[in-house]
Amino acid sequence: MTTDTSVAGELGIYACPVCKRLLRQEEGVLRCPTCSQAYPIREGIPDFILEELSRSADPVLRRMRFIDRMARIYETRLWYPIVLNVYGGFHSPSLAQLIRIVSQKVQSTKGRVLDIACGPGTYGRRIASPSKEVFGIDVSMGMLRQGAAYTAKEGIPNVHFARARVEALPFEDGLFDATLCCGSLHLFADTVIALREMARVMKPGAVLAVFTFTAGRGGILKFRRLREWALRRGMHAFDLSEMEQCLTASGFKDFQPEVSGSILTFSARKQAA
Ligand SMILES: [Zn+2]
Repeated sequence: MTTDTSVAGELGIYACPVCKRLLRQEEGVLRCPTCSQAYPIREGIPDFILEELSRSADPVLRRMRFIDRMARIYETRLWYPIVLNVYGGFHSPSLAQLIRIVSQKVQSTKGRVLDIACGPGTYGRRIASPSKEVFGIDVSMGMLRQGAAYTAKEGIPNVHFARARVEALPFEDGLFDATLCCGSLHLFADTVIALREMARVMKPGAVLAVFTFTAGRGGILKFRRLREWALRRGMHAFDLSEMEQCLTASGFKDFQPEVSGSILTFSARKQAA
């Protein structure tokens, strides 16, 4: 039965990642009224990535099966602290400290928060509140399923997950009051294209809160050769002037960086039109 084409509940917010028009909910899919493309809903999670990522030219996306499998250990001692120490240095902030730093940057925000490359909702589900509704997107269905399991177990109501690429967000323009991008900006193939798409879906003046890596004084990223090795694996360590240039080119202003070892956290704001 496909007579029900109403836009219902939380799924009514999603737009075609190509046409950017609101989608209609049909049996098990969201359908674009403009291009007719159907996006499947898998276990309650809409999937906007129709291509097979294991054949991608992007070295990060080709590792998708590994990323799917490590969803269960991502927030444990077996993964996050190791990544922070190896890349950021031994005095890097802990995950709990990073969550606190990022939360402060969006503390005064009320409304919709976009969580880019949300993983299992590591930041987003800890920031969600009655006044902050979080929409997480990630390329890994394994991570999103884990996030949905965590939010169900923890009883967090205001978090929604969808599978999408940062370069083609399934949202209309000017929808979000804040955007989080934690632990992923250094992995995107083109930083400016990713930031421009984030800016598109944000309201003027909305805050962007980021944790990424810089060529700082801690971890392996202080060594030029290891930065080059990391870059061949698709991981970029930004210097601050380069980061500011990328932000300005993408429609952001008020770059406020903080560096600890090789960990860079910052906020910026979307420029007014
Ligand atoms: Zn479309």
